[in-house]
This record gives sequence, structure tokens and C-alpha cells, in this order.
Amino acid sequence: MTDTTEFRAWRVEESNGDYVGSEKTLRVADLPENEVLIKVSHSSLNYKDALSASGNKGVTREFPHTPGIDAAGEVVEASAGPLSAGDKVLVTGYDLGMNTDGGFGEYIRVPAAWCVPMPAGWDARRAMVYGTAGLTAGLCVKKLLAMGAAPEQGRVVVSGASGAVGSVAVEILARLGFDVVAISGKAEHAENLKKLGAGEVLGRDALDPTKKPMLKPVFANGIDTVGGSPLAEMLKQILPGGSVACCGLVAGPALETTVLPFILRGNNLLGVDSVEIPLAEKQLVWSRLAGEWACPETEASARDIGRGELDSALSAFLKGMSSGKIVLDHS
Ligand code: NDP
Repeated sequence: MTDTTEFRAWRVEESNGDYVGSEKTLRVADLPENEVLIKVSHSSLNYKDALSASGNKGVTREFPHTPGIDAAGEVVEASAGPLSAGDKVLVTGYDLGMNTDGGFGEYIRVPAAWCVPMPAGWDARRAMVYGTAGLTAGLCVKKLLAMGAAPEQGRVVVSGASGAVGSVAVEILARLGFDVVAISGKAEHAENLKKLGAGEVLGRDALDPTKKPMLKPVFANGIDTVGGSPLAEMLKQILPGGSVACCGLVAGPALETTVLPFILRGNNLLGVDSVEIPLAEKQLVWSRLAGEWACPETEASARDIGRGELDSALSAFLKGMSSGKIVLDHS
């Protein structure tokens, strides 16, 4: 391996305000100076990758840029930290794919502190079936459990259920014995959601905006992956003492609510960040996902694509039309 070694990457360039992604040849020397060089075999698609690829400056400031907030593969060189050549690792979050070239290229170079050793029994593809979305779903479940959420309290609702985060959340909760109500705008995905373990699938109208400050409480707990007014409506429908873990903003970043769910029903709104949390917390959730929280249906239904299909797959995220887990295979 030398600095002149060439590799392929799906690179986004800016041209007169348009952002266009295409396959390019780069050299290892083009990667940022960091401690660990990784040969990436697989990445995973996330909503944030679609934002980066479409020029969202809140995600990626400078172009040309290689998106991909997730990557898994093999260490080629490590100049610091506990890893050495040949170790299998996965990397999610921190600055990967934002302003550090990410997993849509065949190589990345990142700080040692970003690298998670591959969970026992897993390979790179399996890790990328889950990716940041799976990690985030796991973190949402972990927060609900830490608040005492239990199946006997009643139904747990998941919004954006057919999406990357939502679908994994549905399966983990169902496998833990929760009665899951999946909210989805894709009627054609109802059967898939039931396969993942949802007991009931409702349309997005279950969280349509209302003028009422509170609604009949029908869900014990919830996971919200969409934000905006659906989150406000979900909060109005949580039973006393129940919690909602929130992680997303596809329906908008603004949250217009009142204090009523919090002071009349003692509800809790739990924020979930999968990006900047300590590596040890990520590792804990990865070990759960590789163990008792494993999602066989998600694993069986994940789709593999090549770099040539990234453009259309990422556009679907921006239209709210993506579903399930999509793995990028560099081979
Ligand atoms: P996806 O696009 O895969 O899933 C989002 C789902 O939300 C869609 O599939 C759709 O599901 C639903 N949806 C889309 N648009 C709307 C809308 N306007 N109103 C209501 N529902 C809508 O994205 P991801 O699962 O990858 O990510 C979900 C969110 O979580 C994103 O905002 C992402 O940025 C965020 N995220 C946050 C993380 C964190 O660390 N906090 C980490 C990972 C993701 P359906 O058709 O079934 O309703």
C-alpha cells in the first residue's frame, strides 16, 4: 500500500449550485491525514447521506466530497491505538461522511477513536445491514428500557416505521415482546411491517395535526423517527408515565408542543444521538445487536446495491420513499 494506490469512490461535485455524484478514481494520498487506513468492503445508506449528496451545508460544507456515514472493512495500516493491519472494524458517525471522506469510497482514513472492532460472529456486510440506522434504533430502545418501559404497560408506537431506523426499531421491540404499532405512509409495506413483528400498522393520519392540546392516551411508549408535527401528536397520545425516544426530522425540525404531556401525564421526551456519543456506548449497543437484539427479518430483507445505484437510492430518501435497509457493496 502506497500513497499512490488508486481506488474507486462515489464522489459528489458542485457545479453551478447543482450537486452531482459519480464514480471517480482517487489515490490514498487524497484521504485526510488520520491514524487508521481502512479498506471498506461495505457501507450502508442513511437519510443523512442523501442530505450530504444533495449539498446540504449543515451536513457537508465543502465539495468535492465522498459521502457515507457508515463503513465496514479491514484495517490496512494503523499508526496509533489498539488496532493493527488485518483487524475487522466498523465505523459510524462522528465526522465520517460529513466533512471526512466516507464509506462510499473503497478506502477511508479515520481517527483510531472512531473504530469499533467487529462484533464476534459478524462480517462487514452484516454490520452494514444495521449501520447507523440500526445503531440509532438500538439507542432508542435502550433509552426506553432505561426509563422502565416494559411490554405489560401497553402498546409502543413507532413512526416512520418503514424507514431505515423505524424498521429496525419495530423488529427489536417486537423481539423483546412489545406489542408494536407501526405508523407508515406506505400502505404497500404493511405486510413487511407485520413480518418484522408489528401487531398493527396505521397510516400517517394517526399522527395528523390536531388543534387539541391533548388526545386520548393510547400508547404506553413511542419511538419517533420523523420529528415535526407527528412527534407533537404522538406526545399527546402517551399514557401517564410513558416516554418517547426521538431521533429524526424528516417531517421537520420544529417541535410545537405544550408542557401538558409533561406536567399532566408525567411523560418523558428522550433525545437520541448516535453520532457523537462515546465509542463505549456505541460498542454496548453493537454487542446487543449482534446478540439478543439481532433482527433476522431485517437481515433477510436487506437489499444490496453497487455504487452505480447510489443516485436513485439516495433520491428516494429525500422523497420519503425509501424503505428497509440498503447495503452498499463495493465488490
Ligand atoms: P428513512 O428515509 O429511511 O426513513 C424515514 C421514514 O419516515 C420514511 O421511510 C417514511 O416512512 C417516513 N417519512 C418520510 N417523510 C415523512 C414526512 N414528511 N412525514 C412523516 N413521515 C415521513 O430515514 P432514516 O430511517 O435513515 O432516518 C430517519 C430520521 O432519523 C432522519 O431524520 C435521520 O436524519 C434521523 N437519524 C438520526 C440519527 C441520530 O443520531 N439522531 C441517526 C440516524 C438517523 P413511512 O413511509 O413508513 O411513514
